[in-house]
Amino acid sequence: MPYTFAKSTELFARAQRSIAAGVNSGIRKLEAPVPLYFARGEGPNLWDVDGNHYLDFQLGQGALFYGHAPAGMADALAAQARLGTHWAAQCELELEVAERLQAMIPSAELVRFSNSATEAVMTAFRLARAHTGRRLILRFEGHYHGWSDEGLVGFANPADQWGDAATPARTHPSKGVIAEVLEQFVVARWNDPEHLRRRVDDFRGQIAAVIFEPALCNTCCIEPVAGLMKTIRELCDRDGMLMISDETITGFRFGASCAQGYYGFRPDLTILGKAVGGGTPFAVLAGTRAAMAKIIAGEVIHAGTLNGNPLCLAASKWCLDQVRALGATQPAGIQKLGQRLMAGLTALAREHHVPLRPQGPGLIFHTVMLKPGATEGAVVDYRDYVRRHDAPRWAHLRRCLLEEGVRAIERGIWSISLAHEEQDIDEALTRSARAFKRHAAGWPPAAA
Ligand code: PMP
Repeated sequence: MPYTFAKSTELFARAQRSIAAGVNSGIRKLEAPVPLYFARGEGPNLWDVDGNHYLDFQLGQGALFYGHAPAGMADALAAQARLGTHWAAQCELELEVAERLQAMIPSAELVRFSNSATEAVMTAFRLARAHTGRRLILRFEGHYHGWSDEGLVGFANPADQWGDAATPARTHPSKGVIAEVLEQFVVARWNDPEHLRRRVDDFRGQIAAVIFEPALCNTCCIEPVAGLMKTIRELCDRDGMLMISDETITGFRFGASCAQGYYGFRPDLTILGKAVGGGTPFAVLAGTRAAMAKIIAGEVIHAGTLNGNPLCLAASKWCLDQVRALGATQPAGIQKLGQRLMAGLTALAREHHVPLRPQGPGLIFHTVMLKPGATEGAVVDYRDYVRRHDAPRWAHLRRCLLEEGVRAIERGIWSISLAHEEQDIDEALTRSARAFKRHAAGWPPAAA
């Protein structure tokens, strides 16, 4: 029998009376049929308050790279909690984490800690502007860099305001943003090196930094085309811009040296979040000594009461030791599992005549649902995705999957954790078979 969600529904109704809109992050409202309330997690498993069991591929928006509630991390947190939960001062743990990061990521000559990747991105932009004396940041359509005024420019340009292909618009999805913030950005399309060159040339001498998700994971899952990272590096070196790799999602998921090791490039600044804290509020700005110079000189302010919080540091040290212990075999292990899941979903889609096309390197992937009549082939950028992805149909299948106990991120991203095993993937596929059957029978829904 498909799952039902009576207790979550009741709690969500109660939440409307004490929490604005009932949730503490806007996107959580998207979970259908109702934002779920969870009771417990263990490894790849998650249980909600109605007692439903899920094989989890949402993984706390990808942060739970080590699975839910790993015992080693729980022990590290408990031990630290007894020593102190917060000092707003120095402790040796912060050196232990910093030194591990230095040893794993060649471009991480120096680091600074924050509580969220949004803050680390804000610091990176400030640093880049101070470093170069320039105003503009170049970023790509569909890439997400946190929810600050600056982080969201050009993230989800509405189709009727895209602007032409040569000069993508600078829109903002939130109200209440200072209008001039939009003017501090240049937006480019992803995966078109020649277009990127022209965008940089149009603003030559005015751009402080180029920021990107090395594999775009916030809109579909789109790896960089061959040569793109090299082009960004060359342009940055030519014009004195800083290259900022936002590895909030890819960090450690793509191996101990992150996506920069996986794809072979060396940025000036790196943003780490999610897996670096394994589910605690911990994020890192890492960079070369030269790029960090204005922080060293005290000319750029980076602050925060909870920065380098010892609980987060204890968790992060444990996480980094897990990644280090896997050595050269990681990321091959989770990649194989992810590819097994992608292949299984593809086979089910074929069997049930559902136009679902999993896309990505397996370490993480996106389930593209083709619109009726859309052309086949990999999605290459944000506009291509909006044109071809059938979001309502994916939402219908996603709900069927949830009701059978398989949980992916609402917008279609699936993450694999180090806690998943082959049998979890196979169980997820057995459950998915029931979901595909119900989806195929129920789509399109009868008109109300
Ligand atoms: N950058 C990227 C690439 C992200 O995916 C996210 C979060 N999904 C952020 C920045 C912001 O991270 P946080 O939610 O920790 O502020």
